Amino acid sequence: MALALAAMSAAAAGPTPPGGITQSAFGKLPDGRTAEIYTLTNRDGMRAGITNYGGILVSLKVPDRQGRMADVVLGYDSLAGYVHDTATYFGALVGRYANRIARGHFQLDGHRYTLPINNPPNSLHGGTEGFSRRLWTATIVKGTDGPAIELSLVSKDGDQGYPGTVHARVIYTLEDDNALRIEYFATTDRDTVVNLTNHAYFNLSGEGSGSMLGTELTIHAHRYTPIDKTLIPIGALAPVAGTPLDFTRATPIGERIGADNPQLHFAGGYDFNYVLDSGGGAAPALAAEAYDPKSRRRMRVYTTQPGLQFYSGNFLNGSPGKQGHKYERRSGFALETQHFPDSPNHANFPSTELKPGQTYHQVTIYRFAEPVRG
Ligand code: BGC
Repeated sequence: MALALAAMSAAAAGPTPPGGITQSAFGKLPDGRTAEIYTLTNRDGMRAGITNYGGILVSLKVPDRQGRMADVVLGYDSLAGYVHDTATYFGALVGRYANRIARGHFQLDGHRYTLPINNPPNSLHGGTEGFSRRLWTATIVKGTDGPAIELSLVSKDGDQGYPGTVHARVIYTLEDDNALRIEYFATTDRDTVVNLTNHAYFNLSGEGSGSMLGTELTIHAHRYTPIDKTLIPIGALAPVAGTPLDFTRATPIGERIGADNPQLHFAGGYDFNYVLDSGGGAAPALAAEAYDPKSRRRMRVYTTQPGLQFYSGNFLNGSPGKQGHKYERRSGFALETQHFPDSPNHANFPSTELKPGQTYHQVTIYRFAEPVRG
C-alpha cells in the first residue's frame, strides 16, 4: 500500500514536519508494556498528540486568529498521570458504553447483564477497565485530508460484563483545515450495546488558563434528557426553552450555571445529554459551537450522533495536570457526542444495540477557525 509522504516521515526524529506524523514512547504501563504517542501536524502547524493508551487525545495545539498556538485540552505530561487518574477521562476514547447505565444492569434478548458499579450506584463509561484504560493497537494510515492514525481494540465476550466480542476501530485525522476528525467503527459476534465517544475537556484560552465560564456556547438542541439525582435519565425528552439549559443561542457558560434549578443542582452545574436537532444523520451535522472571547478561538462540533453530553467540569478539584497547572472546578468543558445515557434501559431512546453483521459507524469533527491571513 502506498503511504503518503507524510506517513513515511513517521519514524523521523526531530520536530514534526508540516503534514506529518512522529511517533515516540510515551511511557510504560504497570504491566511493562510501552504506550506510544503520535504527534500529528497539519499544513497550518496545528498539532494533535494522541497515545494508544486509552486512545487519549493528550494535546491539541490550535492557532488563534493571529496564529498564536495554545494547547486547548486538559491532561497530563506523562502516561503515569493518565494511568493514576480513574475519574476525569481526560481526552480518552470511552467505551464500550459512554456515560451511565443505571445500577449497572440492562436486559438484552431476555438476558440480564451486570456491569461494574464504578460510579455508585451506576456504571459509568464502560466500567472500571473500559476502553479508556486499554492499550489500543495503533497504525499510521493514509488520511484523505491530513495526517491520520488508526487505533483498534478487541473487547472480548463478557468484558466488563458486556456480551459479544467487539472489534472497535477509531481513526483520528488532523485535517488541513484545522479540524480533528474522529471516526468510530465497531462490529460484534453477538448482540450487544455500543456507545463510543471522546472525552476531551476544552479550554479555548489554553489548558491551565483558569476558568472557562466566559466561553460562549451554542448547542443546536431544543430538547434534553432530564436526569434524577444519580444523573440517570428519567426517560423524558424535555424542552430546554425557559430553562438555564437553553443554549440554542450563544450564551456564556457561566451566565446561568448557578441558577436555582433542580437539574443544575443534581449535576452540580451542566452535565446533560442534549437531543441534537439534526442528530442521527448519515453525514456529520453542526451540533455545537464554542467561542472564547479571551483568545477569540472558535470551535465547531459536527457529528452523526443523536446526542451531546455537555459537561462543565463540575468534578474537577484543583488536581495538577500538565506542567503542574491546577485544574480547578470548571476550568474545562466537554462536548461528548454520543447516544443517550442509559439507552439500553429506555426503549424510547435511539437504540444502541449492535448485532452480528452490522457495523457501528459514527463521525465527530472538532473544527477550529483558521487564522486570519494577510
Ligand atoms: C459525565 C460526568 C462525569 C464525567 C467524568 C461525563 O461524561 O457526564 O458526570 O463526571 O464524564 O467522569
